[in-house]
Amino acid sequence: MAVRRTRAWVAGAVAALVLAGAGAGAAYGVQAADHARARSACESAIADARRAQDSLDEAGASLAAAAASLAAAVDAAAALGAKTGDPVPAAAAADLAAAGEEARDAAAPSADVPPASLPDDLGGATTAALDDCAASVPGETARLTEAAEARAEDLEELQARADRLGAAFDAYEDAVQARGAALLAQRQDASVDAIAAFQAALDALDGAEPAGLPALVDAAVASAGALVATSDAARIVSGGSCWGDADDIGVLVDKHHPLCPRDYAPDLVPVASTGGMLRPEAAAAMDALAAALGVETGLSLSAASTYRSYDEQDALYAAYVAGYGQAEADTFSAHAGYSEHQTGLAIDVAAGSCGCTDVPFGDTPEAQWLAENAWRFGFIVRYPDGYEGITGYMWEPWHLRYVGVAIATAMHDGGIATLEEYYGAEAAPDYY
Ligand SMILES: [Zn+2]
Repeated sequence: MAVRRTRAWVAGAVAALVLAGAGAGAAYGVQAADHARARSACESAIADARRAQDSLDEAGASLAAAAASLAAAVDAAAALGAKTGDPVPAAAAADLAAAGEEARDAAAPSADVPPASLPDDLGGATTAALDDCAASVPGETARLTEAAEARAEDLEELQARADRLGAAFDAYEDAVQARGAALLAQRQDASVDAIAAFQAALDALDGAEPAGLPALVDAAVASAGALVATSDAARIVSGGSCWGDADDIGVLVDKHHPLCPRDYAPDLVPVASTGGMLRPEAAAAMDALAAALGVETGLSLSAASTYRSYDEQDALYAAYVAGYGQAEADTFSAHAGYSEHQTGLAIDVAAGSCGCTDVPFGDTPEAQWLAENAWRFGFIVRYPDGYEGITGYMWEPWHLRYVGVAIATAMHDGGIATLEEYYGAEAAPDYY
């Protein structure tokens, strides 16, 4: 019995083996189709996950942009407040700052969602691994989509909040400007009173007895301080005010003191010695300077730039801003209406020995001679080395400004480097 049973089992096993051998080709075909299906499902799941990741990243970028806009709005409002002395409404500023903080946090990749973990290369993946991918990646997609939706909601909330605050800030800005205009009118009246008070104090000093002098000096100083305070306030709300008559050869023109009117245009004559056009007083002085330079040293100068009109300055400045950006352009080029070249009293000279302007000019014997002698002819090197914080401009050894012999001599003899210091005007490193 045992033997027969064994034989029957063996026969059965052999039959099974034969059957299995015959079916092997068909089974392989089934497996390949399964593998292709699994691969396609995995690829499609990965594509979904990548789209979800992109949406999440886009929502993050929008939030980051919103955070930056909100921060810029806070800064702009603070700058306006600082300029006008009208503080930004504290509650609005705090709310805006908090909204910006929230936007930044929500946009930060580390804040919530680690990126999807997706297989890179499906080439060698088994069917089981592909099935695993198709089963697990949709979970990643759901997680990323949910996070992207949450970010989109955050963005909508922020947008609504920023809109409300934007309207509040617009109203604030309008109010500040209206107040500024009123303040300007009021301060101009106050300036007139302050000038009268200062003049009266000076008159009182004139015929004072020695014993009464200290009190009168104190009064004069106090009224001078009041005068400065009122005129500074007026300058701040008006974007700077002119120093005085634009036709005055001593006129101070810098980043706090534009020309009045802004499109002022002087009478000009050609400069025989160097070329270019200047006001007659400045042209005659330049000819005298050039003649003395020739006699004393054998050197010569030519004009690289003299008078520039408001429109020419406007175009030049715009070109510099396009090339260098505003911050850098502001260190060497003036806004239209704020340039000494528009006075007809300024000349940029090039050295005959090298034909150069610009930085190498500072190393030439011509520049050396000008630094020591220009004052004799009523010129100053207007933007000396190391005074950028006062004049608002980098060292320009080639930029000469005619101020007349009296002022130039007083500055030379007094060791006064800048026109701002000569007049006791505030430093003008930047525009209001
Ligand atoms: Zn110049």
